[in-house]
Amino acid sequence: MVRRDEGAATTSAELRAHNLARLLRAVHDGAGQLTRAELTRQLAMARGTATVLVRDLAGRQLIEELPSPADSPADVRVQRTRGRPTGVPSAHPYGPVALAVDLRDDSFTLACFELTGRGAVLDRQERDTRSGTAMLADVAARLTIRHRQFGDRVIGIGVAVPSPLSGGTMVQPTLSDWQDLDVAGVLGLLTAQAAVPTGPTGLTGPVLAGNDATLAGLAEARRGVLRGVSAALHLHVATGIGGVLLVGGQPVTGARGSAGEFGHMPLAGGSEPCRCGSTGCWELDAGARGLLRAAGLSEQGDRMVQATRVIAAAADDPDCSRALAQVAGALGRGIGALVNAQDPEVVGLSGLAAEVIAAAPDAVRTAYLAALMRFRRPQAPALLPSTLGDLGTLTGASELVFDAFLTPRGLGAWQPTARKTA
Ligand SMILES: [Zn+2]
Repeated sequence: MVRRDEGAATTSAELRAHNLARLLRAVHDGAGQLTRAELTRQLAMARGTATVLVRDLAGRQLIEELPSPADSPADVRVQRTRGRPTGVPSAHPYGPVALAVDLRDDSFTLACFELTGRGAVLDRQERDTRSGTAMLADVAARLTIRHRQFGDRVIGIGVAVPSPLSGGTMVQPTLSDWQDLDVAGVLGLLTAQAAVPTGPTGLTGPVLAGNDATLAGLAEARRGVLRGVSAALHLHVATGIGGVLLVGGQPVTGARGSAGEFGHMPLAGGSEPCRCGSTGCWELDAGARGLLRAAGLSEQGDRMVQATRVIAAAADDPDCSRALAQVAGALGRGIGALVNAQDPEVVGLSGLAAEVIAAAPDAVRTAYLAALMRFRRPQAPALLPSTLGDLGTLTGASELVFDAFLTPRGLGAWQPTARKTA
């Protein structure tokens, strides 16, 4: 999760590897939108050094330098005072790809991401009546197919899991057969077993897991509404509610790595027993479960899909409308309590929370302001719905892979081939 400091480079070869990683990291962080001149300035590099490094990265199929908009004859903003215009280092068409999985207890989604953070959902599958173990086998089968498709371009797999993690294992998942499971280890093993002699060589990159809500927050800090925010609170509402406090863009994950279980705080004033072992938990009233329960629906199938349907039907259906209002109030009240506790600059909202606030902004905001301490109300932290949509959690999972890759060691393992499969 925390970006690794590779330490001081001591030889010229190490210095070059260090600078290549820094430059590629800057291309990644800038989403492939910065010109070479802008990157050079940002990294305080000599122009000649940057030119050589860009050529090196391009030669290794890590980037492709595209013409900058200022090179276009149609562009009237050509105001070059000195030097020649520079290109825009972007993702190479045969460059590195991170695979990402958003694992939920009722379904999973698989996506791929290129160096500049552009992602696409590749597969979605609901869990059938079988066990969580069987679903992990399905995930591994999909990953194997995608690994074959992208070949040696795959630099690793990031997995977002619906459980607090400690030491890489799921310490309190909702499915009993996932208890204490090292999900990254299991998926790594299953995909390795499925590799065939005619396919790409075994996965050389790591399989890395993180909590889904923490990764949703990380994604917002890197690519979304929390970019550049010094102290942010992010809340991710899926079947449960999780979140993370981000300071300087870095998740604060606690002594065991399992902080942010805000859904299991008694923030909405209920008193029912929760599956977690506590009572009156916030997610009983403000999560997808709360919404379905309030609408009088059962919890069969993909609960997020069902919850989204309830929100969509609220305009016409009185039961759905009442359920939405109830959940919006519980959500706003809990956010207010958390803001009182954490004092963030802004609050990011993703998953179902973004949909609830879009459908019932006044109900959320009224409950939020009412729960805030009086001195906070005139400058209440803004509630910012995610703009990353379905890709949020997946983006966070891919960032785990790129964090490992964008280091001298990670880049050292990258082997370009003359022609990689697209
Ligand atoms: Zn609970």
